Amino acid sequence: MAFEQVKLDYSFNALEPYVDAATMEIHYTKHHATYLKNLNSAVEKHPELFNKTLDSLLSDLDRIPEDIRTAVRNNGGGVFNHNFYFEGMGPKGGAPKGKLADAINKTFGSFDTFKLEMEKAALGRFGSGFAWLSQKKDGSLVITSTPNQDTPLTEGLKPLFTVDVWEHAYYLKYQNRRADYLSAFWNVVDWDVVEKRFL
Ligand code: MN
Repeated sequence: MAFEQVKLDYSFNALEPYVDAATMEIHYTKHHATYLKNLNSAVEKHPELFNKTLDSLLSDLDRIPEDIRTAVRNNGGGVFNHNFYFEGMGPKGGAPKGKLADAINKTFGSFDTFKLEMEKAALGRFGSGFAWLSQKKDGSLVITSTPNQDTPLTEGLKPLFTVDVWEHAYYLKYQNRRADYLSAFWNVVDWDVVEKRFL
């Protein structure tokens, strides 16, 4: 079975005005789709890997045959990261609830401090990459950022939430103003999805 792009349960214009429809459409149908095409053509050289989940491939890159390891890291990461990013978005916003809210408050002091720390990680990522909220093996929460299409899975973390800070994620609307994109992004987070991942 070839790997797939997640189906969006919202339309490209549903996240306006915070993330514009043109950015969403190009991001999903061009950037994300290209990572998928390149991942599937790389894995065709070792089709037994189609039996694995993308999570497990990315969690153990050393076990990927060397001739496709970089392609899986970059394009498999691209597919995973974008599936994860788009799935965690929606025309919702608001704040985390329940046990997730408790864990965020306990770790960062408050939701507002958590948001500042995420924005700091996302702004501090030089060049292209992602900022993440993840869970360590002991269950505690941690904020990190990854370059390019690397994922927290490779570092043994369980990702809960991400924001894409490649310029293609915001340039049409925000140009070089990454900080403005980040503060607007809180309006399009689907915290129910993040909570499900956490539980
Ligand atoms: Mn992207």
